[in-house]
Amino acid sequence: MKLCSACLLGVKCRFDGAGKPNEIIIALSKKEHFLPVCPEQLGGLSTPRRPAEIRGSKVITDLEEDLTPQFNRGAEEVLKLAKHYEITEAILKQRSPSCGCGKVHDGTFSGKIIKGDGITAALLKKNGISVISEEEL
Ligand code: SF4
Repeated sequence: MKLCSACLLGVKCRFDGAGKPNEIIIALSKKEHFLPVCPEQLGGLSTPRRPAEIRGSKVITDLEEDLTPQFNRGAEEVLKLAKHYEITEAILKQRSPSCGCGKVHDGTFSGKIIKGDGITAALLKKNGISVISEEEL
């Protein structure tokens, strides 16, 4: 079993209330087990919610609200699930402040992308879980 960003499987959990179904992942999910997770919902955030980006060591919304505790909590919940189910691999949504794997927005809400991991992707990697994005499939 692998962890997978729930929005990639079509779950409408994104900040704007939409999903981000990925055809390759949906096809794969018919052959192997995925555990869909949305760290932002697991961290207690509602859907829809304000867009957020990583800025330094914090996660900030476009209204300058600090959501770092919720993002950290969501990451910890995903890690707990990974450990519980002995999951060693994850496919996460690129550029998300939670799930981004190697690329994230730069914290200015200008659309600019920089190198970096989302909060959940970073925590999973730190704990030895292999993380790739849907763009690497
Ligand atoms: Fe998708 Fe991850 Fe954002 Fe949830 S936190 S909507 S799973 S990219």
